[in-house]
Amino acid sequence: MAQGDAVRILLAAPRGFCAGVERAIRAVEDALATFGAPVYVRHEIVHNAQVVGALRAKGAVFVDHLSEADPERPVVFSAHGVPKAVPCSADARGFTYIDATCPLVSKVHAEAKRFHARGLAVALVGHAGHPEVIGTLGQLPEGAATLIETEEDARRFQPADPDKIAYVTQTTLSVDDTASILAVLRERFPALVGPAKGDICYATSNRQDAVKAIAGEADVMLIVGDPASSNSNRLVETARAAGCPKAVLVDEPAAPPTEFIAGARTIGVSSGASTPETSIEALLAALRTHCGDVVVEERRQTEETVAFRPPAVVTPRALAG
Ligand code: SF4
Repeated sequence: MAQGDAVRILLAAPRGFCAGVERAIRAVEDALATFGAPVYVRHEIVHNAQVVGALRAKGAVFVDHLSEADPERPVVFSAHGVPKAVPCSADARGFTYIDATCPLVSKVHAEAKRFHARGLAVALVGHAGHPEVIGTLGQLPEGAATLIETEEDARRFQPADPDKIAYVTQTTLSVDDTASILAVLRERFPALVGPAKGDICYATSNRQDAVKAIAGEADVMLIVGDPASSNSNRLVETARAAGCPKAVLVDEPAAPPTEFIAGARTIGVSSGASTPETSIEALLAALRTHCGDVVVEERRQTEETVAFRPPAVVTPRALAG
């Protein structure tokens, strides 16, 4: 096939793993190296089946509740964060634990607690049921925070005192959708206060910007990510809103949706913050097999240099000391 006939693949950058995900995965690997197997992990450490499968093969045991873990073995809390009752319970039961909550999620927890301490009702913009939202709600007493998922929720929200409200958000939301929801809240509640800098993290906004930059040129967009990954799903929506209505989440990169890409001359590709680069490599290999001649062009919007220190290991002895 001549070069002019090649299918063009536009590879968004940054894409894939963020600093919080890398830190959380390393926390499990380090715990396995230090303590041996098994190491319990409360909730999927990050929302990615390959990552979870690889850690499971090394001896990680994933549980939904602390009560399923053996107190004689260490437990790691996931990057999404946990309600404060979880480390309290781990302390009480004598667990050794490693809290791999992303520092940018911990920042949201601290903000929510600060606003609550100032006597403000807290509106949490996020998605019901997501572990990060459960963790943030769980920093405050029952009923102190109200979950706002949509503009409609923002219109219906009735705080006890409209002059005393604050907001925080989930870190992995759509930048544009969140701005619309906050605009409704600000219009209804001029006294609304929020974090000095937004809560949507650098990795989420960088990945959305990178997708926006290529969506208009792509016939189809393939976002590699797990169906449970919030930021991956937001990338699909971002691509659609930014000019590529044919955008889809690809859960199995080695088997891309061939009917979906039929006839496409330019394919945009990106991945969520919990997706390893090996998944992108698997997708590109599959596209080469399926499409024949392909030309891969990476479009980098920004360099990322964020890195976090590893989380502390909390032992019963350290607590006693
Ligand atoms: Fe942290 Fe953002 Fe990554 Fe979530 S997506 S783990 S908040 S850096």
